[in-house]
Amino acid sequence: MLMATVLKGLDDFETTCLTRAMMNSGEVMSWPEKWRGKIVDKHSTGGVGDKISLVLAPILASCGMKVPMVSGRGLGHTGGTLDKLESIPGFSVAFNTSAMRSILEDVGCCIVGQTETLVPADKKLYATRDITGTVDSVGLISSSIVSKKAAENLDFLILDVKCGKGASTNSEEEAFELGTRMVNIANGLGINTAALMTEMTNPIGQAIGNALEVAESLSCLHGKGPKDVMNLVYQLGGHLLSRAGLKETVEMSCSMMEALVRDGKAMDCFRRMIIAQGVAEDTAKRLCDPENDVWAILPKAKHVTGLKSDKKGFIHEIDSKRCAIASGKMGAGRSKSGDVLQFGVGLMLQVGVGDAIDKGDVWVNVHHDTDSIPVDVLTELEQALVVEDQELTSKNESRVMKVITSSLDMH
Ligand code: URA
Repeated sequence: MLMATVLKGLDDFETTCLTRAMMNSGEVMSWPEKWRGKIVDKHSTGGVGDKISLVLAPILASCGMKVPMVSGRGLGHTGGTLDKLESIPGFSVAFNTSAMRSILEDVGCCIVGQTETLVPADKKLYATRDITGTVDSVGLISSSIVSKKAAENLDFLILDVKCGKGASTNSEEEAFELGTRMVNIANGLGINTAALMTEMTNPIGQAIGNALEVAESLSCLHGKGPKDVMNLVYQLGGHLLSRAGLKETVEMSCSMMEALVRDGKAMDCFRRMIIAQGVAEDTAKRLCDPENDVWAILPKAKHVTGLKSDKKGFIHEIDSKRCAIASGKMGAGRSKSGDVLQFGVGLMLQVGVGDAIDKGDVWVNVHHDTDSIPVDVLTELEQALVVEDQELTSKNESRVMKVITSSLDMH
C-alpha cells in the first residue's frame, strides 16, 4: 500500500480518509464541553532555532485558550521542543490525557510527549516507511502529522510550514503542496486550520541549542526577544486567534498578545506550566524572574569561543542547515534515536542577515564542551556565513512567505 501511495499519490479525499483511520487507531483525547471553541494548537514542520512553541503556547494560554500541545524530539538536523524544555531541571514530558486535562484546567497549556495510545498506527506506518523507502510522500507525511494533531481533538490549528535550506522542504512548490494538503485534510476532519509558509534559510532568532533556546524564549516572554522570533510568534498566534474569533483581525490579535507579554501574564503561564510539569516552584520562580541570571539554573557549556568574519561587507545569509549540523555535532542534536544530548552546547549568533560586518568582527559565539571547537564543526560554520560587498536591497523583517487557507469541507 505504501509503495502504491508513493507511486500513484493520494488525493485530498484519500488522504483525509487515511488520516481519519490513523487518528482512530488509538485514543482521541476528550475535553470538557465548556472548552469547546477554545482548544487550539500549532505545529511546525521543523526549523533551526525554532523555539516558537515555548513562547506561543503560554501566550495563547494567557489569552484564555486551551493548548494541549503534543510535541516531538529532535532527530536529524532540527531540534525538538521536548529536548529544549528538558534542559530545565525537573521538567517532565510524560503525562496522560487525564493529567493534561488537569494542567489545562489550571494553567491553560502543556507541552508533552506522545503517549503509546496516541495514533499507534503512525508508529507502525512510519517504521515501515523507514525501511521501504516510502518516507517521502506528501500524502503520507501529511496524514502522519495531521493524525496526531487530530487525536488532540482540536478546534483550531495553525501550521508553520518551513521552506528553505534548513527545512525539510527547500523548494517553494513542495512546501506549498505540503501546506495545502495538510490544511485541506485538517479542515476535512473538522479542525479549522490555516498554514503559514515561512522562510527557513536563516536561523530563527540568535540561539541554536537546547538550553540557549530556552534562555532566548524567556527573553521573548520578558518582551526582549529578537524581532524575527516575536514577529513569527505573533503572526502564527494572530492567524490562529482571529480564526478562533477571539479578535476580528490578525492585527488586533497581535496587539492583544503583545499586551499579555508586556504585562507579564504570558510569562506567568510559562512559569505555572513548568511547575505543573515537574519543575520545583523556587527554580521556576528564579528562572522566570528577569532580575535573576538564568545560567545559575540552566546547564551551561564549558567553553565559549567567538568566531570572526574573515571579510568586510554585508551579511547575505547565515546557512541554517550548516548551523544546525555544527550544533548537532557538538551534542545539541541526535544522529540516532537514544543519543544523549549535551544541553548547554550550541550557537549564539551575534549578527543578522542584512547587517554590516567588519573583518575580524565576531559573528557567532560557539558554546562547546570539548576543549576546543572540533574541526568538522569549524568547517561547517566557516561555510555558513555569506558576506558580500554590496548591501542587501530588501531586508525582510517577516518570515511569512504565504498564508494558506482552505474552504474545503469534507465531513
Ligand atoms: N513528521 C511526522 O510526524 N511524520 C512524518 O512523516 C514527517 C514529519
